[in-house]
Amino acid sequence: MKIRKVALVGGTHGNELTGVYLINKWQHNPDLVRRGSFDTLTLHANPEAIKACRRYIDRDLNRSFALHDLAAPKAHYEAQRACELNAILGPKGADKTAVDFICDLHSTTANMGLSLVVSNESDLTWDAVRYLCAKEPALHLYRWQGDEEGAFVDSVAPHGFAIEVGAIPQGVLHSDLFFATERLVMHLLDFFEKVNRGEAIPETEKEVEVYDHVDLLDYPRDASGALNGMVHEALQDNDYRVLQKGDPIFRLFDGSEICYDRDEPLHALFVNEAAYYEKGFAMTLARKILL
Ligand SMILES: [Zn+2]
Repeated sequence: MKIRKVALVGGTHGNELTGVYLINKWQHNPDLVRRGSFDTLTLHANPEAIKACRRYIDRDLNRSFALHDLAAPKAHYEAQRACELNAILGPKGADKTAVDFICDLHSTTANMGLSLVVSNESDLTWDAVRYLCAKEPALHLYRWQGDEEGAFVDSVAPHGFAIEVGAIPQGVLHSDLFFATERLVMHLLDFFEKVNRGEAIPETEKEVEVYDHVDLLDYPRDASGALNGMVHEALQDNDYRVLQKGDPIFRLFDGSEICYDRDEPLHALFVNEAAYYEKGFAMTLARKILL
């Protein structure tokens, strides 16, 4: 297939500054993201949240793109903005969309390193992912089937993914991860250029290691629903670690521990992500597979 237009999206969450400032940089220096065989669109997804340096104003924009939400938008800011973005990038599910691929730039307070979150599965998406894995061996892949299906920004186009980098506090820039994200996007654009030119792409991984989403794990809570513990110090900052039955995962406020109690060893991701406290997730659990 020929790629006609690619969207680079930042500031979907207004307090994740890596994407916000990369988009600014590219808008001031459009040659950086220009390639000969396709158009590149750069945009801020949530301008009001960026101004406020908050994740969102009324609702998480990156959970606002389910088809039923787009069909009957509620009267709040992110619902309206999701409809505008659907018109600019989609429309979602159409045979012909305005853009072919969406790369959505995020950061996380969890120590996720350089990661891709793939939920919009297509052959082109996976070809791009395998190419990026060859270019950036430190890249981690997480296949998300999370709290709300198909509601991410990148679900509006037929192909795409989100980049997640961390650990970065909310409202903060981190130089290494800023440039690591930019490098990854440059490789992605180069990949599309090669595809469009019909070039052989030998530098592609045949098989990639994927962390496949299994479950979301909440914090320990008391009977009223209030937290009565936190992520265990042995797990803090150790994203992608495998959990074996008996490994401590939470430290209660009284000093006692809660241990992992499943028979199947799974890997912990998005450990102690600040934005997930309100969602009730202390971490996600994933199974490591080869694809
Ligand atoms: Zn985000």
